[in-house]
Amino acid sequence: AKDAKTGVVMYDPGTLVHQPSRLVLLGDLRRALDRTDELVLHYQPKVALNMDQVCGAEALVRWHHPVRGMVSPAEFIPIAESTGLINRLTVHVLALALRQVRRWLDDGHEIPVAVNLSPRCLLDTSLLDTVRNLLTRYGVPARMLRLEVTETAVMGNPALALATLTGLHELGVRLAIDDYGTGYSSMAYLKRLPVDELKVDRSFVLNMTASDNDAILVRSAIDLGHNLGLTVVAEGVETDQHVEALRHLGCDIAQGYHFARPMPAEDVVEWLRTSGR
Ligand code: C2E
Ligand code: CA
Ligand code: CA
Ligand code: CA
Repeated sequence: AKDAKTGVVMYDPGTLVHQPSRLVLLGDLRRALDRTDELVLHYQPKVALNMDQVCGAEALVRWHHPVRGMVSPAEFIPIAESTGLINRLTVHVLALALRQVRRWLDDGHEIPVAVNLSPRCLLDTSLLDTVRNLLTRYGVPARMLRLEVTETAVMGNPALALATLTGLHELGVRLAIDDYGTGYSSMAYLKRLPVDELKVDRSFVLNMTASDNDAILVRSAIDLGHNLGLTVVAEGVETDQHVEALRHLGCDIAQGYHFARPMPAEDVVEWLRTSGR
């Protein structure tokens, strides 16, 4: 830990235990990005509630580490975020996702894919060119790409974030606010962002059938989104009860284990066929 005032690095026993493995992971991640197929994307379907039809999928990165086995993104994304590595990782993920969208299009399946952007990515002035170039390289229409950002990411540097988001939106890429409800935002603030979709955080959805407070939050998020002309997505939809409650509240799209877990690309078309969606 670095003392903010003096800049002196101090070792406290709590962090010491974790530091070597963070460093090792960071090195391994660098290597994984350079020359291996250790990083793969899994895709989780998004289902339009009114028609019970699939309307896209979210790409979620998976790391098959040669020694440690599967490493969760919850573990390595924060490590990548603490360094510039997240920008390279994002480019890698974007390329994999767009290549997959192209493959599905070639097989006659139109499946728009959403990719997660870390806060740092919104500060990367080369992101817009990167996205434009990758869309061209894979011959994917911009409307087939969705990008998910959190409110907190936008708050970090609102002016720069807004410029990046506006550029992406003008390209035709759709934008979503991810994990809605976990950060701050006001209607006035959201209104200024060129976003198309509001994703209600799974923690509220998961508890909405047990907790009145969470049910109220989900309801007001849906109403707010609709008042702003946004499509509202509920994530973490695990049960029939969730689906019923969300339909009742007029939620547009649902995503969660109730429909499908994130799965390898090669399983998606088969899942579409067997689920009839
Ligand atoms: P997220 O963007 O909120 O993604 C949704 C997470 O919820 C995923 O976890 C997904 O597997 C999980 N999930 C989906 N349905 C359910 C459900 O019904 N119940 C429960 N309990 N969980 C559900 P995952 O794949 O472990 O990803 C965790 C986080 O890591 C993501 O949260 C996202 O913030 C980050 N992440 C994943 N892939 C990427 C990536 O390519 N780039 C960046 N920057 N972040 C990523
Ligand atoms: Ca997401
Ligand atoms: Ca989320
Ligand atoms: Ca999240």
